[in-house]
Amino acid sequence: MAFLEIEHLKKYFPSPRGMVHAVDDVSFSIEKGKTLGLVGESGCGKSTLGRTIIHLLDSTDGVIRFEGEDVTHPNKQKLRKLRENMQIIFQDPYSSLNPRLTIQETILEPLKLSKRFDKDSLEKEADRLMEMAGIEKRFRLSYPHELDGGRRQRVCIARALALMPKFVVCDEPVSALDVSIQAQILNLLMDLQDEYGLTYLFVTHDLSVVRHISTDICVMYLGQMVETCPTKELFAHSYHPYTQALLSAILTVDIHKKKERMLLKGEINSPINPKPGCRFAPRCPYATEECHQEIPLHEVEPGHFVACCHVKEINQL
Ligand code: SF4
Repeated sequence: MAFLEIEHLKKYFPSPRGMVHAVDDVSFSIEKGKTLGLVGESGCGKSTLGRTIIHLLDSTDGVIRFEGEDVTHPNKQKLRKLRENMQIIFQDPYSSLNPRLTIQETILEPLKLSKRFDKDSLEKEADRLMEMAGIEKRFRLSYPHELDGGRRQRVCIARALALMPKFVVCDEPVSALDVSIQAQILNLLMDLQDEYGLTYLFVTHDLSVVRHISTDICVMYLGQMVETCPTKELFAHSYHPYTQALLSAILTVDIHKKKERMLLKGEINSPINPKPGCRFAPRCPYATEECHQEIPLHEVEPGHFVACCHVKEINQL
């Protein structure tokens, strides 16, 4: 039994011009204690997918199974329990913190709501969470604007983990941070995962960020999954032209491994009432007439799935 299973999940939004297919028939599973990296350009639906899974948004269709139980349409009581077990860390720590609350008050908020702790033990627990996230005690009574970006994100992590959730959506948690601080936050997330057996869905536009943190990767393009496999495998050999373009954009310091950047030309398809067929076709250098039919994910190697009808010719398999 997978820890989290997503089957044919869809999230559509109405718009004046038709339905926006933000997430369109996406399926995957995550094992307990593992990290799935969800990668794609901004606007591909990856954040919407993360928020739909933890019920910040209602799904349009499909099934969400958590620890073997169908939680697609939970009642109020079940939703409260799910919210304790499923948390999210947002991209911008500044806008996700209340500027009028001190760091201690911010961390105390979910603890008070849960009513798990009595008055005397609340502050002790807040101190423990601050220490766990690497925030010095001297910042207890500071306000978010008095902290740097890295510390603010540590506060968000402490608050997200206050009720010891089992599953956390990390929604671009390092994108707004300086490169020097990104590694510290990634290391903190990995340490906490080891210590508490957390399971992560790590959403990012940057493949290099998930290289060391994720066990498996799903690449999304315009609401659909185009390639998925274990992380090592994806970096050793990707098969979908879109994944290849994303990988070619990663800087390498090894001059012997100098590679050509694959620049994507052409218009991005509209996610409003999209036509059948490969949504990457307008930008794909290998597109043919055949690409305008339905192209499901298929297994190219054991555990490596790709949605492309010319995968053999492109990769000379
Ligand atoms: Fe390109 Fe066609 Fe493959 Fe889509 S299905 S990625 S358009 S070759």
